[in-house]
Amino acid sequence: KSKALGRNACSFFDEELNQELALKSKLIEQLRETIFKKSLNLNFQPVIDLKRDKVVANEALVRWNNGVELWISPEVFIPLAEDNGMIYEIGKRVLKEACLQCAVWRKSGYGNLSVSVNISNHQLRDNQLETIVLESLTQANLPPEALTLEIKESALISKYNQVERQIKSMRKLGVKFCIDDYGLGHSNLVELYELGIDQIKLDRQLLKDMEDNRYQQKLLDGLLAFAAHLSIEVIAKGIENDEFIETLRKKSCSFGQGFLLGEPMSPSELDIYLERAYQ
Ligand code: C2E
Ligand code: MG
Ligand code: MG
Repeated sequence: KSKALGRNACSFFDEELNQELALKSKLIEQLRETIFKKSLNLNFQPVIDLKRDKVVANEALVRWNNGVELWISPEVFIPLAEDNGMIYEIGKRVLKEACLQCAVWRKSGYGNLSVSVNISNHQLRDNQLETIVLESLTQANLPPEALTLEIKESALISKYNQVERQIKSMRKLGVKFCIDDYGLGHSNLVELYELGIDQIKLDRQLLKDMEDNRYQQKLLDGLLAFAAHLSIEVIAKGIENDEFIETLRKKSCSFGQGFLLGEPMSPSELDIYLERAYQ
């Protein structure tokens, strides 16, 4: 940036960088306080069985409720929390809260809904994760099958033994695993199958103009066929319009998630949504 503006822009650039750093440390400070005051909360977004038109799960999405100030996306504060070691505390609270909510849905008679929780690579490399997962399930009196951990493809790239061991051990208990944003990385489906991955969530970028892109349609056909062969469930995410969902239905993609089907909601909003869905 400074290069494009020439040498004289250098001090201007430094100024801008300083401001950015100040803003960042202010955010980190506020986040620490928020965690201390326990004012992070969860929204939930439904995952829909496209064949039966039924909710099968809800994904927990963390929200930073900082009162009057601007909305700060988890895409901003999760990386900050990862850099500052706060992710462990946040992750633990998200798991506990998500499991408790799932137990509430099950008691309300909405069927055997499960809950999906996003897990950062840092958490996956921490050998405390399994203990925390078990504690969360026990505290909520929830069977392990009710919990799906959404991990990133990049968590597997390093071939980090401990990550594999931890995934296999939790799978043995019955906890499910989903690869989030599948399709842009490098892991092949056979590898995921061997690891015992239960689901893949297709990155929206992969199918972004599928309606009139034959290559993307072929790609989806292939992925769906191959995944079915390996008993890996496929969830299409980012469903925002009717054309997209029609194409998915035509190709027998089993599961979907997106604003068109249900936005992320507070627990009480979700309760109303589920009540309607189960009438
Ligand atoms: P993600 O796991 O890929 O979650 C999906 C994101 O897409 C959510 O953003 C959701 O609100 C948004 N979304 C849902 N449907 C649509 C749609 O139809 N169109 C579009 N354009 N977007 C849609 P959100 O809640 O801002 O979360 C962003 C990311 O932050 C998540 O991406 C996840 O990677 C991370 N995140 C959220 N909660 C947690 C958490 O508890 N722990 C960790 N480690 N990461 C989290
Ligand atoms: Mg996710
Ligand atoms: Mg994402």
